[in-house]
Amino acid sequence: MNSDKASNITWHAHQVTQDQREKLLQQKGVVVWFTGLSGSGKSTIANELAHQLHTQGKLCYVLDGDNIRHGLNKNLGFSAEDRKENIRRISEVASLFVDAGIITLTAFISPYKEDRAFCRTLVGKNRFIEIYVTASLETCEKRDPKGLYKKARVGDIQHFTGITAPYEPPEHPDLIINTDTSDVYESAELVLKTLQHFGCL
Ligand code: ADP
Repeated sequence: MNSDKASNITWHAHQVTQDQREKLLQQKGVVVWFTGLSGSGKSTIANELAHQLHTQGKLCYVLDGDNIRHGLNKNLGFSAEDRKENIRRISEVASLFVDAGIITLTAFISPYKEDRAFCRTLVGKNRFIEIYVTASLETCEKRDPKGLYKKARVGDIQHFTGITAPYEPPEHPDLIINTDTSDVYESAELVLKTLQHFGCL
């Protein structure tokens, strides 16, 4: 970035604090970061969880891979560099949502450990819950909800995670969900318990 652009900018301390917003909402702002291969079930579980939380009167929001790439990140592709920038911007947005007191569910492949660690550091480790959503590559490929594996196999998509691009699994996730064995409702239940354990609800 041009250093001239970043100078002369002052961070404003606002009168209404995160703590006050959290008291109003009776919840804790947190990022629930779902990571895993395409088709492992991240969006499906995040959406089911959002539905259940909303029903319980909790304010939450799902930041979803495709939706973000339609707008904020539409100028980014899938090279390692662009993936890093993709996650950096998402992390900054998620951090603002957490400051707003919102339970923020993110559903991105986010294949690199370092990029996920960036978000953890940004929002603080007591406000970052890492959920590793896993299923065998065979299962993901069979589900292929967007037909992407098919395209990747014939070379129509390059740098496809799990086929022609790497995925680095979390070493110490807060929760591992295997969607070969847990259905969507069981999976959402496991995340709810984890949120309770973290004192977010
Ligand atoms: P991702 O966000 O990880 O790319 P999606 O949630 O978009 O994955 O797609 C997962 C697909 O797998 C959906 O079509 C969903 O209905 C299906 N599916 C089958 N079993 C499960 C499960 N146990 N958990 C989550 N999704 C599942």
